[in-house]
Amino acid sequence: MIKVKKGPKPQILIDNEKEWNRKFSQAWKKYKNEGGDSPKANYNKPSIKNATKKEFAGKCAFCETYVPHTYYGDIEHFRPKSKYCRYAHTWSNLLFSCRICNGNKGNDFPMQDQIIKPTTENPENFFEYEKVLNESSVRLTALDQRARNTIDLMGLNREDLCDYRGKQYKKLQRAITELRNAGADQQIIEDMINSYSKQDEEYSGMFKFFYENDMI
Ligand SMILES: [Zn+2]
Repeated sequence: MIKVKKGPKPQILIDNEKEWNRKFSQAWKKYKNEGGDSPKANYNKPSIKNATKKEFAGKCAFCETYVPHTYYGDIEHFRPKSKYCRYAHTWSNLLFSCRICNGNKGNDFPMQDQIIKPTTENPENFFEYEKVLNESSVRLTALDQRARNTIDLMGLNREDLCDYRGKQYKKLQRAITELRNAGADQQIIEDMINSYSKQDEEYSGMFKFFYENDMI
């Protein structure tokens, strides 16, 4: 995970956020009491989804996997809309995520404010990265209970994800070895590692941690 600054609120939410929240809350309460079809919300409109996708550079807010080349991506309600229907269209509550993290999180929010929110907190203060299985896999390590909750709820140490992080790490290692063998300047190597740590790159949190802790 990496810290992401929320971008400007889309005009459509400036104009409609309060009204849509009010209407959705009413409809949701009616649905809970009387049943019927679950109420439709408006947060999935293209201008809103595109704005969340842009601010997260197309990466899942939780696992940092780049989403759009395989899937449209989900708008993720940090506070689930089923329990906090009054925030269903609240800009600060909307994140961008992959289907797996969003699905794992589901409608549960059992630990109110007990998971890390990457738009208001810096995940660097809560997570470290550990190479395992002969460096072929990379796991997240939690530095406190809230970070542990986040890993468990979203499944951030699922096997495929750990293995894919490991693959990306190895790819960088191979590139560095090739550069060193070719006699490249240390500055060129550092520039390359830095480029992997840029916020819009996949798994930049991992690369930044490895770089800052002399693990590359
Ligand atoms: Zn994800």
